[in-house]
Amino acid sequence: MFKQFEMAPPDPILGLTETYNKDPNPNKINLGVGVYKDASGKTPVLKCVKAAEARILAEESTKGYLPMSGSPDYGAVVQQLVFGTNTDVTTSGRAATAHTPGGTGALRVAGDFIRQKRPDSKIWLPDPTWANHKGICAAAGISTETYTYFDAASNSVDFDAMTKSLKGIPSGDVVLLHVCCHNPAGTDLTAEQWNTVADLVAERELLPLLDFAYQGFADGLEEDATGATVMARPGAELMLCTSYSKNFSLYNERIGALTIIAADADAAEKVMSHIKLAIRTNYSNPPAHGAKIVTTIVNDSDLRAQWLGELKTMRDRINGMRILFVDTLSKLGVERDFSFIKQQRGMFSFSGLNKDQVQALRDNNSIYAVDSGRINVAGMTEDNMFRLCKAIKAAL
Ligand code: PMP
Repeated sequence: MFKQFEMAPPDPILGLTETYNKDPNPNKINLGVGVYKDASGKTPVLKCVKAAEARILAEESTKGYLPMSGSPDYGAVVQQLVFGTNTDVTTSGRAATAHTPGGTGALRVAGDFIRQKRPDSKIWLPDPTWANHKGICAAAGISTETYTYFDAASNSVDFDAMTKSLKGIPSGDVVLLHVCCHNPAGTDLTAEQWNTVADLVAERELLPLLDFAYQGFADGLEEDATGATVMARPGAELMLCTSYSKNFSLYNERIGALTIIAADADAAEKVMSHIKLAIRTNYSNPPAHGAKIVTTIVNDSDLRAQWLGELKTMRDRINGMRILFVDTLSKLGVERDFSFIKQQRGMFSFSGLNKDQVQALRDNNSIYAVDSGRINVAGMTEDNMFRLCKAIKAAL
């Protein structure tokens, strides 16, 4: 049976990392996969994580299964990180959280739930969006459509076109929105625009599916949550997928969550009972370690302060590289205006490089970016910046 198969197409982003890993050039640069790297080009284990793990190792007394939706302590921490303490969402009971393997796991469980309970609903994705969104929806058996989001000419959100697009979505459909650090566009909605979107989805009876994978990577923990807090206004319903891969640098622990916000506690509990069924037939119950780390850190004032400091270091480095990149290109006499990269947030930007230019960077300089021209700013360092910008000048 197996002999009939050809190789599956490589994943556009993870496949690129495989090629990068095989490249023998010691000066290679990976601007592909969305992983944070420090000034020396490494993806570090945070110090607060090491400290939490030491405690967990000393105190852990069982490897028994977790409940299907994970530990309630972790659920409370997830809600607190996004919505703060003593807010309507965290005290009313209208939020219910399931711990999932990464943000990807959260999206897939949300997809399974939608497919099972709202089989006629489509999911509307922003154009552009993270490549895996479409794949996850397809794997769950859901059709997708796109709504306008980004204007390539101005490198910013085309909000008029976006609202026009949203107004055309049939009631009962699902709209996926990136809460911050839009991947791959690097450009987000303002608080005012979020309010308009919240009005629109209420008016049109759409279900928001918020993807929040980069909390703390743009401007700060609270600032970055604006979209989620605005959308979760009293009476509103939504699904929220969070990930702690990036902001706790816990990529391979596969730690994320799916939070349901309903109009009231009774509805939230009922929806969660269906989410649990989707989990049971998928991976049964979540892996414990990442959730223990996040819970231990957030619930301990010293570790939490240490984490916020380490998160700030990551954020400041990314924003610093944005400035250095634009300045170095300009010092080298590159005429094209890249200044928009300074304004954008998160690890990604659309560089505006076309497929041929991306290919030339790969072939001539061992510099790896996604074919769409998306670059991961966190792959830049003070050491590789000059080489990178010279290569971009040549490719242009
Ligand atoms: N959503 C977006 C927009 C992402 O960029 C990513 C990670 N690249 C995820 C979700 C999934 O993150 P995780 O690694 O936690 O599955």
